This record gives sequence, C-alpha cells and structure tokens, in this order.
Amino acid sequence: MGCTDHKSKVPEKGVSYQLNERRKKTIDSIRYNIQLDIPGEKNEAIKGIETISFNLNALDSALVLDFNSDSTHIISVQSEGEEIEFEVANQHIIVGPGGLKKGHNKLTIGFIAGNLSLNRSEEYLYTLFVPDRASTCFPLFDQPNLKATYTLTLSVPDGWEAVSNGSLKSKTSRSGKCVFQFAETKPISSYLFAFAAGKFFKTEKTVKGRPMTMYYRETDVAKVNRNKDEIFNLHAKSLSWLEDYTAIPYPFEKFDFLLFPSFQYGGMEHPGSIFYNESALFLDENASVNEKMARASVIAHESAHMWFGDLVTMDWFNDVWLKEVFANFMAAKIVHPSFPEINHELRFLLAHYPNAYEVDRTAGTNPILQDLRNLKNAGTLYGAIIYMKAPIVMRQLERKIGVKLMRESLGEYLKNYAYRNARWDDLIRIIDKKTPLDIADWSRVWVKTPGMPEYAFSTEPNGKYIQKQDSVSNRTWQQPVGLKRITIGQSHHKFANPEGTAYGYFQMDSASKSYFVMNYNKTGDSMLSKPVFRGAMLVNVWEGFLRGDGPDAGQLLKDVLRILPKEKDPLLTDYLLGRLQSLWWSFLSDESRKKYQPEVEKVTWDLLNATKDKGIKKSYFRTFKRIALSDDAYQKMESLWNKTLVIEDLTLSEEDNISLAYELAIRGKGDVKAILQTQMDSTKNPDRKTRMQFVIPSLSQSEAERDAFFESLKKPENREKEAWVLDGLSNLHHPLRSASAIKYLRPSLDLLQEIQITGDIFFPTRWTNTTFSGHSSAEATDIAAKFLREHPDYPYFLRNKVLQAIDMPQRAARLKR
Ligand SMILES: [Zn+2]
Repeated sequence: MGCTDHKSKVPEKGVSYQLNERRKKTIDSIRYNIQLDIPGEKNEAIKGIETISFNLNALDSALVLDFNSDSTHIISVQSEGEEIEFEVANQHIIVGPGGLKKGHNKLTIGFIAGNLSLNRSEEYLYTLFVPDRASTCFPLFDQPNLKATYTLTLSVPDGWEAVSNGSLKSKTSRSGKCVFQFAETKPISSYLFAFAAGKFFKTEKTVKGRPMTMYYRETDVAKVNRNKDEIFNLHAKSLSWLEDYTAIPYPFEKFDFLLFPSFQYGGMEHPGSIFYNESALFLDENASVNEKMARASVIAHESAHMWFGDLVTMDWFNDVWLKEVFANFMAAKIVHPSFPEINHELRFLLAHYPNAYEVDRTAGTNPILQDLRNLKNAGTLYGAIIYMKAPIVMRQLERKIGVKLMRESLGEYLKNYAYRNARWDDLIRIIDKKTPLDIADWSRVWVKTPGMPEYAFSTEPNGKYIQKQDSVSNRTWQQPVGLKRITIGQSHHKFANPEGTAYGYFQMDSASKSYFVMNYNKTGDSMLSKPVFRGAMLVNVWEGFLRGDGPDAGQLLKDVLRILPKEKDPLLTDYLLGRLQSLWWSFLSDESRKKYQPEVEKVTWDLLNATKDKGIKKSYFRTFKRIALSDDAYQKMESLWNKTLVIEDLTLSEEDNISLAYELAIRGKGDVKAILQTQMDSTKNPDRKTRMQFVIPSLSQSEAERDAFFESLKKPENREKEAWVLDGLSNLHHPLRSASAIKYLRPSLDLLQEIQITGDIFFPTRWTNTTFSGHSSAEATDIAAKFLREHPDYPYFLRNKVLQAIDMPQRAARLKR
C-alpha cells in the first residue's frame, strides 16, 4: 500500500541534502500567501493561515513540508478547499500523494506561528530566519534553492508599524486592528523572507531619486538627527556604486531598513528590508575614524548582499561563505577610498592572516567549501576559515585574473543566475572559459582542500622560495611569493612575502631574522620602515617559532621587548602585545617566567607611562595587568584599581576596573573577597552587576567553590548567558590555576555535543577554545587525544573544533623553555 510505504520513510529532522535535492527536482513555481494576526501581548499566540501554490511534477512520494514547532500548532491542512490527511513527524508535515495531483496544487494550512525566531518584546517583534528558521514560524519548503514569492498580510495592534520585503499595498483598519497588506515579492529564498511589526519611529528620505525609509527605536532625538542623513547617504552611495559595478539596477521593489537595539548581528540582508543593530549605525558624538569606517562598511556589506546573496543565492548552505566574501570584498572597494587615513593593507593583513593560520596550521582545519549533509548543521560551517581565509583567497583570485576580468565574470554570474541559485563552481566555470589559466585547479587547491602551504629557500645559486612537501598530494599552490634581498658585507638576508599578500609559512634563516629584529623600523629604510612589511615579517616569525624553527621562547620574548619601543603603529603594537602574552603564559616555564619577570614588567610599565597615544596606552595597560606577577606589579595594579594611582591619559572604564579586580583576585595576594565585594558595590551598570554575580564564584580561592561553579555549567539553564560562561571558564582555566583545572577538561569535552544542540552557532568553538586556552601541558592535551580515540565516530565538525583548540597547547608543551 502506498500509504504505509511512505510512512515508513519519515524524513530525518531538519532538511537533509537528499530531501533538498528531491524537492528541487519535483517542486517549482512556489508562491506563499501568508496572513498573520499579531496580538499586542507578547505572550499571546500568533494565529496564521497560509496558502501555498506550487507545481508538482512527480507523484511517486509523499510531499514533505518543514515545520519545526509544536505539532499541535497545525490546525488544518486543505487541498483546493478539501480537508486532507497529513502526518506530523520529525519537524515535518507529510502529505501523501492521495491529497495531491500532478501539476498545479494549492494547499491551505491553518497554524499557530512558533515564536522561536520572532524575537518578540513588549512593543515590537522581528524575524530572523537565517539559515533554516523560517520553518520555526510557519510551514514551508525551507531550503535556499526553492525560491518563492511571498504575499504577506499582517494584522497588528493599532499604532504599530509593519514592514516586510514587499512594498506596502494597503493599510486599513479592521475591528480595532491595523491591517498591512504587502505586494507579492520577487522570488527570494526562505531565509531572506522577513517582517517586523511594532512601535517604531520612521524617517523617509529620497536620495538621488531613490526613496528610502528608516525605522528605528532610538529615543535620543539629537543622536538620531546627528546620524540620519549620513546613514541615508551611505546607503544611496553603496547602491549606486553596486549598480555601476554590476551593471544591474537595484533588483528589488523598494528599499527600507530597520534598526533594532540588540539585534543579533551587525546586519541582515533581507531584500528590500535590511535589519541592523542600532548601535552600529547611530554613533556617539566623538565616534572614532574606525567606528565611522565600521558603519560605512556594514552598510556597504548589506547593500552588496542585495546582488550577492539575494539576487543570486547559494544553492545549498555549504556555499554560505561565498555571499559573505563577496559582500566584504565589495564593501572594501566601496568604503576604503573614503578613509585614506587608514592603512587598509595592514589592517587586512593583521585582521585575516594570523587568525586564518591559527586554524589552518592545525590538524583540525577544514577546506573553505565543506560538506553539509543537513541544513540543521549549517551553524557548524562558520569559523575562521570562512571569515578569515576565504577573503584572502578572493583577493588572490582577483589579483590572479585581474580587476577587469573579475568584474566581467561577476557581472555575467549575476545576470545568468538572477533570481535563481548558483554554486561556487558556476562562477569558476565562467572565469575558466575567459582565461587560459587553470582556475578549476586553483579552486581545488585553495577552496576545496584544507591547510596552508609551507615554503623553504632553495639552496641553488640565485635561489628562490619553493613549496615544501605537502600533506595533500598533487597540490601546487599557485601564488606569487615576492622576495626582498639585502646584502650587508658578506651576509645576504632574504625576506619572503614582503608585501604580505602571499598565504603560508615561509622558512626564514636565523641571520635574516636577527637582522630584521636589530634593524626594526629603521628610519630612512624604505622597506624596514614600511608597516605592511613589518607586519608580514612578524606574522611569519611567529609561524616559524610555532614550527620549532626558532628562536626559542626566551629569545623571542627578548626580541619582542626590544622592538616594542620602536613600534608606534597601534595595530602592530597590539599584534606584538598579543604574542608577548602568549609567550609569557604558554611557552615559558615557571622558572623562565621568574627569570624574565622584572624585565617584562619594567618594559610594559615604562611604555604604558611613556606612550602618548591613548589607544596604545590602553593596550599596554591591558597587557600589564595580564602579565603582572611580582609584588611590586601587584601593588601598581591595586593602586590603579583603587584610584590611589592615576596615570595621565589612561581612562579606566567600568569594564577595565572589573577586569582589574578579577586579575587581582586570581593572584590571591590580598583579601580576594573584599576586593570583589568592593568592585561589586562600585559597579553601577545593572547588566554588569548581574554578570559579576555569575562570574565571581569562578574566581574563588577555594577549589571546592570553583568545582561547584564548573558543576553548575552542566545544566543548560546555567549556560544561557554564553558570554558570562566564557568569562567564568577563562578564570577557571587561568594559567596560574591550570593545574587545578585539569580535572574539568574531560567533563567539558563530554558536554560538547550537548552544547552544540543547546548553544548558539559560535558557542562550541568558544567553549572548547576557552577551556584549553590556559593549558600548555602534555597532560592536558593527552586528555583531549584520549577523548577523541575513545569516540572514533565523533561528529566531524566537533572533532575538528577539539583538534583546533589543542593545537596551541600541544605546541606549547613541546616548545616550553
Ligand atoms: Zn553578510
């Protein structure tokens, strides 16, 4: 019997790749007509009714809709006005072929909307459906490659505004409520469908013939007035730039944007209705150049998504990296020329390469393009390889094929796949036929295989850098590696990758390294005084150190202390101070720390006092409080904390004072309880106070109290505030206490799978990294290795997270001096 047949094949939870493929083959021409009745009370249910029209070209199996909510929330399912039988299982609604026909179908479903992705507060709500969360609200085919049109009607309390992707068609009053009817949208993916309703302020402006509306919640009128024109102008400028670059007019009907006070991301690119975090756009009066550039960048980024992501959308979520890289790539082109005072090359170098290497040098790294078997695991794709390596690779591609060919190819890609879906390989095919270069092979190496190349200097006369034996066979990393030579008397110094654009590790001889250190930032030298050159060399020296190519930890620490006073660039200073802290806590034995302590404390303290730049001063302060160990340094910290010592131009925020109190507590030299209590009493911000209350047990001098804190984290309700949990974990695993924290490692790993289910997408990575951050012993990393051995079938993504987290502790255990 057909009926029992498809019942036995209930699809798994989420959207599996097979389900995605089958639906893509058999269903098309989808149109949703959705009506929702939104009550004024945030706890009252939202009732909905929707009609899904679609074309079905095969009747050989049951139709599967996604609805990831309480099964009792489905009230009725009708086909062409007739009630039909359906089954609810594994977050799906399953309709047997009996209720359907080949060709055009029309299902009408009555339901109660799930609240999970509606972000309901007292006065407003907004949706956030990326990546597969539309199905938590209403039944649909929740996969990006089944693009559909949406016709939405929202009934909302009187006085509320309502916004969605489509233009407003009519606004009428009905029995004390206001009904907003939106026009049918262009075909869009389900994760891009959005609406918001509530009490919003509203400002309209037309810039260069383009009408735009901004909705917001901010009540500070002066703040709004100070920012609004610039926000409209930045959008108008970005959209015009993109129309010009792509030669495609803005592809959706209208353009609005909404600002929410604690939006989860910087922005979300819903077509025609971008959502932003309010604080990213409404800047304070004394906003820095960096804050202004960040605002221009997020606006350009979301605007670029209207073409890259919204008009042409990934076919499956494993290509999610592509839309993000495109958006950043375009945003950089749009925004950078307006900020000539910023060294964009250095920023790009330090923001991307070190973070990408941090994952790519580990045994747990992954390719940019990964396998994704089920949409419900889309969150596990995100990480440094997508955010940090992929942008580097995209820049390499443009450098390889040229700016002109890149633009032509992207234009063709957008035109070919407009209002449809495309894969990375579709773009590669377009480029490949325009150039004699083997772009498909280039993509195989850079995008489809993991890891970073390593180069060594060949011993032949006129030698150059050559790729070392690779972990993946038959792989040539096509990239130019520049070389600078300096000859001083008899010695020839060689510096690979002086422009900092090549990706990988470039082995460097010790004489060249020491020349670089001895002549650091030498005035008048066109190369050594160039910030990008210094950045590229520092990153490379660190990579060499981690691979055991020297110098040893003590020498490298001395090198860093020697060059710090010669560095005035804030980005490079921060980079150096980050390495200093790693060396100090992970790569030096207790004995060495004692030996170097006076010098490290003196250099950082002196520079903290001598530096004029307020930002750099803050960086030195943060480093000093992290590395301070002696009684003298403790006293300095304590005096800064209790204000008996004030350093000119060093303003300490409430956050700084709290973290000073924490550092004092961990050192345990004074009355810990009294310090924390005093800090608690003087903390004014109520959010910070409750956060402190949560974190304080993790700082306790009593091991039993710390154990109890850790024990409490086993309950999911105690892990809800993830940032607080991470604060607590980093205290438990502070290097000064790592010996007593060894016992938390195994239970933390045992919890990881549960954490992936209960936590936000970034939490498993952060949980694992923070857990191992303070450890640098073989004992600690052996626990992780044993755990992985005992779980041979452990999920691939989580296994990688563990391998990534123990990479640095493993190297530290090996290199510790
Ligand atoms: Zn984005």
